[in-house]
Amino acid sequence: MAQMFYDDDADLSVIQGRKVAVIGYGSQGHAHALNLRDSGVDVRVGLREGSKSREKAEAEGLRVVSVADAVKESDVVMILAPDQVQRKVYADEIAPNLQKGNALFFAHGFNIRFGYIKAPEGVDVVMVAPKGPGHLVRREYVDGRGVPVLVAVEVDASGKAWDLGRAYAKGIGGLRAGGIETTFTEETETDLFGEQTVLCGGTSQLVQYGFEVLTEAGYQPEIAYFEVLHELKLIVDLMVEGGIAKQRWSISDTAEYGDYVSGPRVIDPSVKDNMKAVLSDIQDGTFAKRFIADQDAGAPEFNALREKGAQHPIEVTGKKLRGLMSWIQDNDADYVEGSA
Ligand code: NAD
Ligand code: MG
Ligand code: MG
Ligand code: MG
Ligand code: MG
Ligand code: MG
Repeated sequence: MAQMFYDDDADLSVIQGRKVAVIGYGSQGHAHALNLRDSGVDVRVGLREGSKSREKAEAEGLRVVSVADAVKESDVVMILAPDQVQRKVYADEIAPNLQKGNALFFAHGFNIRFGYIKAPEGVDVVMVAPKGPGHLVRREYVDGRGVPVLVAVEVDASGKAWDLGRAYAKGIGGLRAGGIETTFTEETETDLFGEQTVLCGGTSQLVQYGFEVLTEAGYQPEIAYFEVLHELKLIVDLMVEGGIAKQRWSISDTAEYGDYVSGPRVIDPSVKDNMKAVLSDIQDGTFAKRFIADQDAGAPEFNALREKGAQHPIEVTGKKLRGLMSWIQDNDADYVEGSA
């Protein structure tokens, strides 16, 4: 059984006694900085010169300084810049200002697992990875709840890295929902696998194919949209509440029988083999190399794929329909439709 822990298993004063730098103010950055601040932790936000996020952070009452200054004046540094820029920010502005006794924190193990960042001796390397989008990490905290977190220690130079990691996890509200002990390797490989095969990649492709098959057969795109995209949330909510079994309990017997006989026809054993191939590319670093090489070249492949995805007919139909559904609220003021 995985090692789990909750609010009572962590001492908030451990992180309240440190100075924390949150580097980046995006999805995770704003949530960590604001939740820690509201938990009584001494936080500053480190941003690059001219960052568009500066105003937003300052409007929330946070102090914003350069990345180098944030690291200099802190002893805990949480890196929440995008994974593909972390190694440059680290080399240029973080590493020169790190000291023995400091702790380097991550919300995803990518750069440590694939060797893009190597922390100096005497520095704790810790991960607190919320298992949910940053905007939920903030929203849940404000509502008195939390998003579950994974906690890992790669280097325990101080001998107290676990206490510090648990305290940080409590500070962002994660231990209200629960923390699970893991390793950088396990978190990185399973996170990449989950998002590529099931949560993001698998689901996006499944929904697009479903929409294509229905509309190519002459059905109305609006009907197709409801059947293969909109209702997905209702089904997933049931799964989260009570597993696949609760979902099957709630649907009609017709739907449940169709689930058993047609699900395995669509997602056949070859899909499992494909998943294994994806996992192997993650484990041996092939995916990381491809992602970073493309990013270093200015992200031509990434941008082309993003553009192509945004032009899929389901997006056009969806945009029109969501405009008519007053009960669907977009709570994220920063989100611009059509941007990934
Ligand atoms: P993001 O793209 O939303 O935000 C990144 C932030 O970094 C932006 O505010 C940007 O201004 C800043 N930034 C960019 N370049 C910078 C630079 N050179 N110097 C300083 N700051 C810079 O990123 P994110 O999705 O929050 O991801 C941050 C980390 O959290 C990643 O390691 C990611 O894997 C992890 N993570 C993200 C989520 C999520 O919900 N998005 C969930 C779990 C873990
Ligand atoms: Mg994930
Ligand atoms: Mg991820
Ligand atoms: Mg239906
Ligand atoms: Mg039923
Ligand atoms: Mg994004």
